[in-house]
Amino acid sequence: MLFEFSELDWLFHDTEDIESFLNRIIDLFYKHMRISGCSIYLLDESSDQLVFMASEQTAGSSNETIDRQERHIKRDEGLCGKAVKSGKIEFASLKRVTMAVPIMRGQIVIGVILLERSRKPFHRLDAGTVRFLASQLANILDNARTYFMDSAKTGLEPGYNSLEFNTQIMLQGNAASPGPAYGDSFTLDRKRSFSELRRLRFDRVYTLAELTEAIDKTEAQLLDLQKGVEKNLSDSASLIFTSHLMMLKDKSFINEITNRISTGINPPAALLSVAENYIKIFSESDNPFVHEKVEDLEDLIQRIFANLLGEDSAPVNAAGRIVIAKSLYPSDILMLATEKAAGILLVAGGVTAHISILAQSLKIPMVIIDFPDLMKTDKPLPIVLDGESGRICVNPSQEIINDFSEITKQTRSTEKEPLSDVTQTKCGKKIGLLTNINLIPDLQEAMNLNAEGVGLYRTEFPFLLRNSFPTEEEQYVIYQQIIELAGEKPITFRTLDVGGDKILSYYRDYTEENPFLGLRSIRFSLKNPAIFRQQIRAILRAAGGRRVKLMFPMISTMEELRTAKEMVYQSKEELEKEGLSPVLPEIGAMVEIPSLLAILDHLCEEVDFLSIGTNDFIQYMLAVDRNNEKLKDHYTPHNPSVLRGLKMIAEACNAHNVELTVCGEMAHQREYIPFLLGIGIQNLSVSSGFLHDTQQIISKTRLDEAKTLADEVLSYSSIFEIERCLGIM
Ligand code: PEP
Ligand code: MG
Repeated sequence: MLFEFSELDWLFHDTEDIESFLNRIIDLFYKHMRISGCSIYLLDESSDQLVFMASEQTAGSSNETIDRQERHIKRDEGLCGKAVKSGKIEFASLKRVTMAVPIMRGQIVIGVILLERSRKPFHRLDAGTVRFLASQLANILDNARTYFMDSAKTGLEPGYNSLEFNTQIMLQGNAASPGPAYGDSFTLDRKRSFSELRRLRFDRVYTLAELTEAIDKTEAQLLDLQKGVEKNLSDSASLIFTSHLMMLKDKSFINEITNRISTGINPPAALLSVAENYIKIFSESDNPFVHEKVEDLEDLIQRIFANLLGEDSAPVNAAGRIVIAKSLYPSDILMLATEKAAGILLVAGGVTAHISILAQSLKIPMVIIDFPDLMKTDKPLPIVLDGESGRICVNPSQEIINDFSEITKQTRSTEKEPLSDVTQTKCGKKIGLLTNINLIPDLQEAMNLNAEGVGLYRTEFPFLLRNSFPTEEEQYVIYQQIIELAGEKPITFRTLDVGGDKILSYYRDYTEENPFLGLRSIRFSLKNPAIFRQQIRAILRAAGGRRVKLMFPMISTMEELRTAKEMVYQSKEELEKEGLSPVLPEIGAMVEIPSLLAILDHLCEEVDFLSIGTNDFIQYMLAVDRNNEKLKDHYTPHNPSVLRGLKMIAEACNAHNVELTVCGEMAHQREYIPFLLGIGIQNLSVSSGFLHDTQQIISKTRLDEAKTLADEVLSYSSIFEIERCLGIM
C-alpha cells in the first residue's frame, strides 16, 4: 500500500475549503505515483455534467484532456465519461498515458480522478492504489460535491449557514434503518437545550397555579408515553420514564420549589434553580446510577418548561420530526419511537450497529452521516431522509417532497405481501429462509410475512431496554409470547449477548479498555452463572413441551461450549426436581471467533447446529471494529481470509452432518448470496425487512453456477480480484 493513513489524516488537517482539500489529494498522487498531471471531476446530477474541481501538472505536460481543464464536460464525454458509464478504471494512450478512475459511493459514481503519465504505463498496482484512495475519500467527496455545487448555484459560501438559507442540500450518509421520512428537524442535544433554558428571560411573573398545572400536564404526558411503550412493545416494557415520574413525586423537590416561590421568586426561575441544585448533587455522586439521573432530570425540566411557557421556548417533542443527534442510548431510541419520531439522523460519534438494529426493530428510518454541522442549526429545518439509500435532502424542493410521498405509498403497499411458501434456487434446491428478531414487533411482522421460523432471536434486547435485570418470571412472560407467536415454527434463542457496544446501563461494575475483546457475550454469562441460569430456566419453562433451539454466542473454546451446555443440563434437572417436564433443547453455537476454525471437527461433534455470525466473524478475523465508521473500507466481507474461513465452516458442517445457518448481515447481501450457496450454505437468517429480497435473489441463483463462482472467488488471494469477480466496486 503506497499511502500511509497518517497522510489521509493530513488531508483533513487545517483544510478550509474544498479546493485546498482536493489539492492535497492531488499532492498525494504526485508524491507516490510519478505522474505528470492529475485532475479531479465531480458529477453534478442536476446538470448531468462532470464539473472540474482541481488540477495540477508538471511543466511540459501536454495532455489534451488535462490541459484543457474544461470546467464542465458531459457525463458521457471522453475518457472520464467512459469511466462514469462503466464504473471501472479506463485507460487511454494518446501522446501520454492517461487513467480515469471512477470515485464510487457504493454502486454510484460521484466523480472521476484523471491521471496522466508521460512515459511508463500505469499498471494494476497503480490502479488499485488510486481506487483505494478514491474509496477512502468518496464519502467526504460526496458531501463536498453536493454541498459545494448547491452553494455554487446559489452563490452562497459553502458552510453550515447555507443550511439555514432554504438552500436545497443533498447529502449522502450510510443507511442504517430502512424507510422514508420527512419532517422538520429536532436537535436532540440535551446539554445544549438545558443550558439554553438558563439563558431564558421570563416575560412576566407566572403563578404557582400555572406551574402546578404544567407539572400535572407533564406527569399525564409521561404516563401516556409509558402506556404507549407497554402497549406496543410489551417485551421491552421498561419503565423508561420511572426516574422522571419519581422526581415529580418527590416531596422535597416540590417543597423546595414552593418555598422559593413563597420568597417572591418567579416560579420558572424557582424550578430551574432547584433543578440546578439537584443536578450538581447528582453530577458529583460517585454512584453511576445517580450520575445517570442528570440527563433524566434535565429532560424532565425541559418538558415542564415546554408546558409552562409553550413549545417554542423549549421544544421537547420529537413527534413527526427528524431527530438529529450525536449519539443515542437504546432507551433514547425507545423514547423516540414512543413519541413517534419520523426519522433519525445520527451525526458522527456514537455510531453503533445495535442502535441501527434497534431502530430497524422499532421501524424508525435512520441514516448515519459524518456531518456534525447539522447539529449547529438553530431553527428546525425541513428534511427528507431515505433510510434505504442513506440519502438526505435538507430544505427539499416540492418535487423531492412529491417523490417522497410516492416512495412512502409504494413502501406501504409492498411491505405486507407474504413470501412464497418455499424458498428455492432456480434449479429447485430448497433453502431455509429464516428471520432475525430482536423484539416482539419483529416477530409479528415476520409471521405476517409467512417467514419459516426464527434463525436468531437476540434475547439481549429486552435486557438492554430496561433499568434492571429482568427477573426469571419477566423473561418467562416475554419468551412465552415469542413462542406463542411463532406457533409451530422453529425458534433459535441466542443466549444473552451483552458487552461490546451492548452495555447494560445497570451493570457497570467496571469499565473495559477493549469492550469488544472483554467480558462479552458467553463470557459474561459464564461469569454471572446466576443470571445465565435464570435465562436458561425461563426459556425451558416457556418452551413447555416444545423443543426449541438454544445457541451460545461468541464461543471461542471447547471449554466454554462444554460449561455452557452443562448449565443447560443442570437447569433442566433443577426444573424436573421442581415437578416440571422441560424438553432438552437442540444446542448450538455461533461461529464468530476465528479460533474455532482450527477446532471445527471437535466443535461439530459436540453441537446440534452452528450459525455463522458474519458481523462479528469479519470483525475478529480482520481485527476491524465493526462499528467504526472510519474503518468501514477495511471491514470487507469479501476479504479472501473471511471467505476461505466461511468455506471451512461449511465443509466441516457438511462432513459432520451438522445444520448450518448464516445469520449475520452477509446473509441478505446481494453480492454474497450466490457465494454462500455455492460453498454449501443451506440456511440464511435475515431481518424481516430483507426476507423478500433474499428470497428473490435465491430464486434467481443456479447452484452449479454458484459453485463455479465460489470456486473462482476462492482461488484469488487479493480483495481486488475478488471484487472484480463478484462485481463489487
Ligand atoms: C453476528 O455477529 O453476525 C450476529 C448475527 O450477531 P450480532 O450482530 O448480534 O453481534
Ligand atoms: Mg455477533
